[in-house]
Amino acid sequence: MSNLVLTVPMAGWLTPLDEAPDAVFAERMLGDGLAIDPTGSTLHAPCDGTIIAVHRARHAVTLRAENGAEMLMHIGLDTVGQDGAGFEVHVRDGQPVRSGDPLISFDIDLLARRARSLLTPVVITNAEAFAIVRRDQDQEAAVGDFLMELRPLGAAVAAQEASQTSADRRLRIPMLHGVHARPAGRIAQLAKTFAAETAILAFERSANARSPIALMSLGVRHGDEIVVTAAGDDAEAAVQAIAGLIADGMGEAAPLAADPIEAPLEEPPIATTPPTLLQGVCAAPGLAIGQAMRLTTSAIVVPEFGADAATEQRALQAAVDAVRARLEAAAASGPTERRAVLAAHLAFLEDPELIAAARSLVENGKSAGFAWRRSLAHYVDALRRLGDSRLAERIDDLIDLERQVLLVLTGDETQGSPVLPQGVILLADELLPSQLMALDAGKLRGLCTARGGPTSHVAILAAAMNLPAIVAAGPGVLQIADGAGLILDADAGTLRVAPDAAALEAAQQRLATRGERRMAARAAAHQDCVTADGARIEVMANLASVADAAAAAGQGAEGCGLMRTEFLFLDRATPPGEDEQAAQYQAMAEALDGRPLVIRTLDIGGDKAAPYLPIPPEDNPAMGLRGVRVSLWRPHLLRTQLRAILRVTPRGQCRIMVPMITGLDELRAVRAVLDDARAELGVSTPVELGVMIETPAAAAIADLLAAEADFFSIGSNDLTQYVLAMDRGNHELAGRIDALHPGVLRMMAGTVEGGSRHARQTSVCGSLAADLAAVPILLGLGITRLSAPPSAVPEIKALVRSLSLGPCRDLAAQALQATSAQDVRRLSAQAFPFGAAA
Ligand code: PEP
Ligand code: MG
Repeated sequence: MSNLVLTVPMAGWLTPLDEAPDAVFAERMLGDGLAIDPTGSTLHAPCDGTIIAVHRARHAVTLRAENGAEMLMHIGLDTVGQDGAGFEVHVRDGQPVRSGDPLISFDIDLLARRARSLLTPVVITNAEAFAIVRRDQDQEAAVGDFLMELRPLGAAVAAQEASQTSADRRLRIPMLHGVHARPAGRIAQLAKTFAAETAILAFERSANARSPIALMSLGVRHGDEIVVTAAGDDAEAAVQAIAGLIADGMGEAAPLAADPIEAPLEEPPIATTPPTLLQGVCAAPGLAIGQAMRLTTSAIVVPEFGADAATEQRALQAAVDAVRARLEAAAASGPTERRAVLAAHLAFLEDPELIAAARSLVENGKSAGFAWRRSLAHYVDALRRLGDSRLAERIDDLIDLERQVLLVLTGDETQGSPVLPQGVILLADELLPSQLMALDAGKLRGLCTARGGPTSHVAILAAAMNLPAIVAAGPGVLQIADGAGLILDADAGTLRVAPDAAALEAAQQRLATRGERRMAARAAAHQDCVTADGARIEVMANLASVADAAAAAGQGAEGCGLMRTEFLFLDRATPPGEDEQAAQYQAMAEALDGRPLVIRTLDIGGDKAAPYLPIPPEDNPAMGLRGVRVSLWRPHLLRTQLRAILRVTPRGQCRIMVPMITGLDELRAVRAVLDDARAELGVSTPVELGVMIETPAAAAIADLLAAEADFFSIGSNDLTQYVLAMDRGNHELAGRIDALHPGVLRMMAGTVEGGSRHARQTSVCGSLAADLAAVPILLGLGITRLSAPPSAVPEIKALVRSLSLGPCRDLAAQALQATSAQDVRRLSAQAFPFGAAA
């Protein structure tokens, strides 16, 4: 390999890669190089070479130089979402080019308006093979100027790479406390004495064996299966030594469950006592009695180096195609939630940059499986580093895809679907969506995982399958023996192991009562909802799609109290236009057959990102540009949405609700846009404009807001998050973020009181409305409308019919004086055992 000089491919300001506002580039996940802030509008070849691929969105190109260096030039950031608009490509895949040849031209003004940043990274994707001599940065440069020189790292490295051998060994962790700091340190120390690259694989993740932190963060515990791998000349010796050290237990060995325990023993073996009661976090409500079955998955080992590149490319393509075909077939039918999860997996699978990264690794000699795993690992790391707990849950989806493709590649597909006995409560460390979907749902009664989060796709799927589920119940889950009797009370977040006869009987009784109550509630779903003492309470449904609207009407919902429009805006490259939105809203209005439809304006931002909204990175997105702030930041979106709502007939069926309001100025700004839109469309019928009470500020000035808002709806999810200063997506806090905290209840009481000064109705549309223990308190506070998921409507209506306002008011008064959410729950359970036990 010879030295290679790269020239400046585009006129502009040379900038260090660290300044790219995108971790994938700034942290050099795709390779090392620099970035150019363009003043020119054509990207040129920086050297002679061959075009590997032009991205189908025309914003990025990869090039291979004659000395093997490969580079990616990526015009702007997040420009994939432009879908080619504003780009003109001058070359095609496989074409030889000369230094200075134009590759892609672009409309710099258009991109400046639409893209998150124009910064154009130029990165060497196989940078590890070169020493890079760079020109000074932070200065302007013209096309053809010197940019950098790539000096291949000696032949020794290449020879070593070519002659690399690999080895691996599978074993279980005998250390009683798993791989904690001390064993991790000893493994890393030993790994460093070998030249081979060593790693430990567990739960589909890989940790560099030389890094104690990486090893600890695998979270492997006693009894978990791991694989020790190594690549390099002394790979075999490294694997033997490391596996030997671990197998020896480092002085902390405890018998493994399947190991024969020799008897008689002088001293009892060190054994962990299986837990009798585990506390986790509810991921899908319900109660189940069943027998334990642990789902274990073993790590999939893939060799680092494969056959020739063409064979590995074919294998990778075939495996990706097979998984895609399977996902497409599965996504063609089934419940909305399941289809949404599958669609998310398909979108990841079709991510062109992911596929390009894997193909590029294969071109460099890696096996298809290794390339796939490594490419996904970049994304996983990037998501982890963002530190956003909800995005972190998408990591499960990526790991799931990694697993699905690797299972096809290795031909080991039996791992996907174990045979279940009838009446099983599934226990697992973590569960992937595809694993849950592959199980025979008819035999499952519930599930409980040691880790995981309540907003993961597995949680959403479990709820859609009516499967009670608990997550984050801790490592004790994995100590429960297969076949043990269990009571899973997902509402309380508890898993009781080997319950005694009395506990079993009580649970059976509750299950039976619950079943009967549910059937009775369903049978009465369409009856009026009036309390026992004659107060009219409306029970409506929260919707996100036309299909939801039809389901809601069938469940007896009296309309829609919250239509979350953002779901129409997510997972697409451009926002829906006025006609498309109008058609959707009209269809929902028709599915509700004249019942009221409260449409919430776009609540995007925070954890819900859209590619076409270039919200700059925020340290604290929940407190950043979201809800009405986005609508006022991009008023054309608001105007389009309001016009679409105004077009729905019959006029007056739709009401408009604005999220994340903190003050009258925002409400007035929205009303001004609404008034303009009405004038444009000639809509003379008054349209109700209400606000969500989700911020402490809005609750505190409810009396002032009530003067100009037509109605209030309390978003208890966000109100709780902001009052308690607890991130609603943080798993660690999931057990403590309770909307029945007296602090939150006092905000709600103030809201009702403020609204009543101007005779405004206050409803609750957050998750609290579906919490049966909360319903009597809400009624007692003066709430007259509840809006909940359609499936919850019949039981809420049934509960309301059984209540009288007097005792509800007494309970609410006591709750406002309580000192904790637990106390409030206790008070509710005492006053209304029905709600708490339901
Ligand atoms: C809420 O915050 O309670 C609410 C209903 O809005 P969302 O859950 O969509 O943020
Ligand atoms: Mg909200």
